[in-house]
Amino acid sequence: MFLEIEQLRKSYGTGENKVEVLKGIQLGVEKGKICVLLGPSGSGKSTLLNIVGGIDTADSGSVTVAGEVMQGMNDRQLTEYRRKHLGYVFQAYNLIGNLTVRENIEVGAYLSSQPLDIDELLDVLGLTEHQNKIPSQLSGGQQQRTAIGRAIVKNPDILLCDEPTGALDYHTSKDILALIERVNQKYGNTIVIVTHNDAIKNMADQIVKLKDGQIQDVEMNAAKVPAE
Ligand code: ADP
Ligand code: ADP
Repeated sequence: MFLEIEQLRKSYGTGENKVEVLKGIQLGVEKGKICVLLGPSGSGKSTLLNIVGGIDTADSGSVTVAGEVMQGMNDRQLTEYRRKHLGYVFQAYNLIGNLTVRENIEVGAYLSSQPLDIDELLDVLGLTEHQNKIPSQLSGGQQQRTAIGRAIVKNPDILLCDEPTGALDYHTSKDILALIERVNQKYGNTIVIVTHNDAIKNMADQIVKLKDGQIQDVEMNAAKVPAE
């Protein structure tokens, strides 16, 4: 497996206040596939994503990406791991307000030794005509497309998306999910995405249901119909 999660455990707090958030997560995702994490609020989805993303640490277990084991890495190695392997998209776009669309995406490109072609990427994102606008001149959907561009321009092995459509209306949400699928097909990145949006079900290769820190069900979507 390209992304291999083994016996991952995580608790917050100590003593009486200790809460076990992940209780031995075991999960593999093949290269280039879209894996969707579903589950009620508090089931551990964000914690799992953050551990894979190297912005939180597990108590035990391991995460392996492209044969590299994260556990035991020091801070410098973790930073390198994030640069080399990961792109992150959040519900909040977190764009730099005084930079244009193009410049926000260029910020991501500086971090990479093999960035994607920015003009081509702007076209894939549908942002060519908006590239010289700053975030306050954009709709929410356009801001999220820019954030996806910033994450994907370094051509990461894995794109992690935490509720990427959480702040968007129904129609725009569907557009954003379709864009994520297009990015997956064009650039081949492995994608792990947390969302409540039902529209995701058609584009997922693998649907993982979490409950109380455990995997309840994994559904493989063999009948996935590629977009267009
Ligand atoms: P989900 O993304 O499925 O809503 P989370 O991973 O955000 O779930 O949270 C799972 C549980 O872990 C929740 O009960 C939450 O309160 C707790 N939790 C998450 N982060 C922290 C933290 N930094 N400190 C303490 N508890 C946390
Ligand atoms: P989207 O394709 O993301 O759904 P809209 O159709 O909502 O975009 O927006 C069309 C145009 O209106 C955009 O090009 C944008 O410049 C402008 N616009 C939309 N929402 C806002 C906003 N909240 N603030 C500033 N400009 C906006």
